[in-house]
Amino acid sequence: MSRRNFMAALAAAVPILAAPHRLLAQSASARALSFTHTHTGERLAVEYFSGGAYLPDALTTVNHFLRDFRTDEVHTIDPGLLDLLHGLTGLTQTTRPFQVISGYRSAATNEMLRHKSEGVAAGSLHMKGLAIDIRLADVPLAKLRSAALAVGRGGVGYYPASDFVHVDTGRVRTW
Ligand SMILES: [Zn+2]
Repeated sequence: MSRRNFMAALAAAVPILAAPHRLLAQSASARALSFTHTHTGERLAVEYFSGGAYLPDALTTVNHFLRDFRTDEVHTIDPGLLDLLHGLTGLTQTTRPFQVISGYRSAATNEMLRHKSEGVAAGSLHMKGLAIDIRLADVPLAKLRSAALAVGRGGVGYYPASDFVHVDTGRVRTW
């Protein structure tokens, strides 16, 4: 098949294939993620890696989506964290967006939360854009935790009482 015919065939096939957020993951080399934010109610489906490179505009969009929603401060989110989530998508076979409980946290927000709850560390990697707290509607929390441990790329915190798993791209450790 010529490239032109192949592209035409691909274009014809795309509308039939799967759910919208799966559409973004068509190309084998592309990486996409979808999110809903539990605090802001915002949704994001984004292809952030394609053609062998991270897509700067997509990363900017992600940085804004995962901002400190209490103060609206935006911080760079480690693309490695997105790859970690992408790995979780594959391992869990989820078809649902990641529900985000917490992404970037400013120092002020982290300090405020630290006084309110026990699970917040003083040197939290949330303050460096290296951590995210998540759950998936179609994956039991314990299974999401196991998948995060299997990815083996950083810290994994399990918070069943609050119904989320913390993952980060710091040292490999677990709690
Ligand atoms: Zn966390």
